[in-house]
Amino acid sequence: MTGIISDLYKDNVNLIDQAKEEIKEVYLNDDRPWVLGYSGGKDSTVVVQLVFDALSELDSNLLTKKVYVISSDTLVETPLIIQSINTTLRRIEEKAIELNLPFETHKVQPIVEQSFWVNIIGKGYPSPNQQFRWCTDRLKIDPANQFIKDKVNSFGEVIMVLGVREKESATRANVIKSHSVEGKALMRHSTLTNAYVYAPIKSFDLDDVWNYLLNTESPWGDDNYELYRLYSDSKSGECPLVVDKTVKESAGSCGNSRFGCWVCTVVNEDKALSGFIDSGHDWMKPLLDFRNWLSSIRDDRTRRMKYRMNGQIYFLPVTIKKIDQTDFVLIPKKGGRKKDLIPLNNFTILERGELKSYLKKHDIDLSSSQDPDILIKDDQGNLCRLGLGAFTLETRKEILSKLLEVQKNLHHPHDEGYELIQNNELKEIRKHWFNDGDFEDSLPSIFKEIMEDELHVEKDERLLFDQEELLQLEMLCKEEGIDFKLVKKLLLVEKDYAGLKVRRGLMDQISSALKQDYLHL
Ligand code: SF4
Repeated sequence: MTGIISDLYKDNVNLIDQAKEEIKEVYLNDDRPWVLGYSGGKDSTVVVQLVFDALSELDSNLLTKKVYVISSDTLVETPLIIQSINTTLRRIEEKAIELNLPFETHKVQPIVEQSFWVNIIGKGYPSPNQQFRWCTDRLKIDPANQFIKDKVNSFGEVIMVLGVREKESATRANVIKSHSVEGKALMRHSTLTNAYVYAPIKSFDLDDVWNYLLNTESPWGDDNYELYRLYSDSKSGECPLVVDKTVKESAGSCGNSRFGCWVCTVVNEDKALSGFIDSGHDWMKPLLDFRNWLSSIRDDRTRRMKYRMNGQIYFLPVTIKKIDQTDFVLIPKKGGRKKDLIPLNNFTILERGELKSYLKKHDIDLSSSQDPDILIKDDQGNLCRLGLGAFTLETRKEILSKLLEVQKNLHHPHDEGYELIQNNELKEIRKHWFNDGDFEDSLPSIFKEIMEDELHVEKDERLLFDQEELLQLEMLCKEEGIDFKLVKKLLLVEKDYAGLKVRRGLMDQISSALKQDYLHL
């Protein structure tokens, strides 16, 4: 037995030596800077540590090109993971200065307009799921790609060094193979021109990874056993710093991991937070409850508008089930929504052309929580329901209120200033709400009510009416049969152009506001 273990260890030492030799060779081969993706997980830790060790063995006058270590901070990272990433980045940088190694560490974050909360609470995006995973691009890929593009602009070409392994899965192996160039260590990046990918541990298996980490001291003083414990007391996997769309497709959800976002709704059951809570970090329980609530409301029709964000109406066919001579409409299980059967005769069946007058007669606002029990016959005679769009403004306000409640009562034991949502995100959300007709400018009041503090925002000069005037305008619109939301939108467009000498674009904006599908049923 001892013989087998020592053979394994010897094999691992050979593999590591070979990997380090290859790293040195590839590094010295040209003057293209390296960008290393570090997620805090095992695979990227191996890569950063191997590169660090390999370069330490080179003569210092050969170390002429930079190695950028970048980590993604989605702004909704699991609190303890982002804290540990911050610590590691700082240690790597300090040790590199001490040893005169060309490492530089950076965190890449989404731009505020694309943050998780601005998309959900500001624009009303439904929380991401397997079919509509809008988050990875906006929160991870785009910020990392922007960093790479900046470096390409400065240096002409860059090499991305990633911890991808062929043995992770057959799909991953195929992706790596399809990008490889015969006999070369570098692969083409699938989308970024002038960026190449180098995967120094592509032939490592899981044992090689842990053997290396647990038998080699971290050069910057991290405890790799701690990392091992993180994996062993959760069933979770890796959440790579995804920088290549093709690799993303083969990566599945990174939410199924302790290294994903704390609020990830892409997985049915959260692993990131529950693992920590199970191992004693009870203070994170409110985060898990909030995440579960957010996931549960996603497919609730009363929380969603009944047209797309661009104003387009669409219809989705329903399944009819006959049980004991009675027809039922089948509502399939989806996310937090339970499967249901609703008797067909609970619905009013309409021809497509009757929809507008029906909505008008019953005073139904498709942007609100109202969910009329109607089925529409499409051109082929199929029965359909109105498809869903963004979260309603009311729901967005409720999500923000709940999030602020959690923030107010949360006690992060190691970081007093820990915030779930940042002030610049709140300001951006306020702009979106205003554009979506929140003339009451409710965000600062919600903030004040919950946080018992002022949100320091400039007075919005675009506010046109006080509450009383708004009420009168709404009544007038009702009397005249005009859509109140449209009037608000048109006033807003006009106000944005008020005082400008050149009003180019005004007519386009007015016409796009008027072209909203739901106004022309
Ligand atoms: S962890 Fe989940 S929410 Fe975060 S980027 Fe990955 S899939 Fe999206």
